[in-house]
Amino acid sequence: MVWKKMNANIIDSLENAGVKATPMRMLVLEQMLLQHRNLTLSEIENLLSPADRITIYRTLQTFVKSGIAHVIENAGTVAVYALCAGGCSHQSHTDSHPHFICEQCGNVTCCTDFVYTLRQKPHTPEYMIHKVEMTIKGVCAECVAGLNR
Ligand SMILES: [Zn+2]
Ligand SMILES: [Zn+2]
Ligand SMILES: [Zn+2]
Repeated sequence: MVWKKMNANIIDSLENAGVKATPMRMLVLEQMLLQHRNLTLSEIENLLSPADRITIYRTLQTFVKSGIAHVIENAGTVAVYALCAGGCSHQSHTDSHPHFICEQCGNVTCCTDFVYTLRQKPHTPEYMIHKVEMTIKGVCAECVAGLNR
């Protein structure tokens, strides 16, 4: 059965990341896999209605801490959550890629095909950098093709 197979993969994915597979964590991860796009807390809340918003929020924080998902904070007024491509752990996220924001439909996409590096010039102040985020704005492929109308 497809559902059973998928369910097993979700449990494996959570446990491989060192996270206990609770029902809520399984539901949130399942939606993130099913939707094929990055979601805000409110969008996940609507999909899982009537689930508790705080519990979903805590679940997302756990995902970010354990390297399952990363949060995109510069996509607009609300944070968007994206599944990591792999290679991230509870110690660090290795997915430093730009995020594409569609000005028509508002979808936020991980641009894993893009790579950027920032280097500090010599003799400049030593800042303590926690996170580098790059945003690309434009029109997404679906909107260009007229599919999101
Ligand atoms: Zn990550
Ligand atoms: Zn679009
Ligand atoms: Zn991303």
